[in-house]
Amino acid sequence: MIKLQKEKVPNILLKNELKWTNEYLNIISNKLTATKTQKERYKHKQIKDALLRETSGKCAYCESEVRSVTWEHIDHIIPKSIKPELYVKWDNLTFSCPKCNINKSDNYIKDIPLLNPYEVDFEAINYLRFAGPTIMPIIDNARSRLSYIAFDLNRIDLVEKRQNRIIEVDKLLQEWSSTIGVKKTVIEKELHDTYSSKQEFSATIKEYLRVNGFPIL
Ligand SMILES: [Zn+2]
Repeated sequence: MIKLQKEKVPNILLKNELKWTNEYLNIISNKLTATKTQKERYKHKQIKDALLRETSGKCAYCESEVRSVTWEHIDHIIPKSIKPELYVKWDNLTFSCPKCNINKSDNYIKDIPLLNPYEVDFEAINYLRFAGPTIMPIIDNARSRLSYIAFDLNRIDLVEKRQNRIIEVDKLLQEWSSTIGVKKTVIEKELHDTYSSKQEFSATIKEYLRVNGFPIL
């Protein structure tokens, strides 16, 4: 998880947010049968494209790339079952991998919200400890622990993918530490790129490089 910044509201929502919200609330309160389109207004291409850009095509919660997955999920940060009035609210929409989306499900505790990477003062390092390929909650922090469990941040597939990424980056790190001159500068730049926000598991890689003595920018 890394801090994310919302793009400006897509035009399609500027035009339709109120209409689509009222339509949805009407369906729910009158127990009407919604059409597929009515149920999936938030999956509009303009919304999906904007979310893909602001998340760099990664899950907002586990930072795995989801572009290659066929059934991408647009996620309601606060579940629409809990707050249907946020059904097409731009600030409540993000992009997540199917596994985080399903794990999170309708998980909602009013007083202890799950971590939200768009919050103004959000810093992952204040809520999660990145220890090699694993991610651990901050001790005695209820929000951290709840989110860690809700997203299942150490599921095997994630740990394996993070481990593979660390092995790749570590090869470069070894090369950097045993090289001098221009070549070292070139490798150093490559290493800085490995933890840019566009890269998969950037928080894990950044912390891995930091604890191994690489000068993080
Ligand atoms: Zn995920």
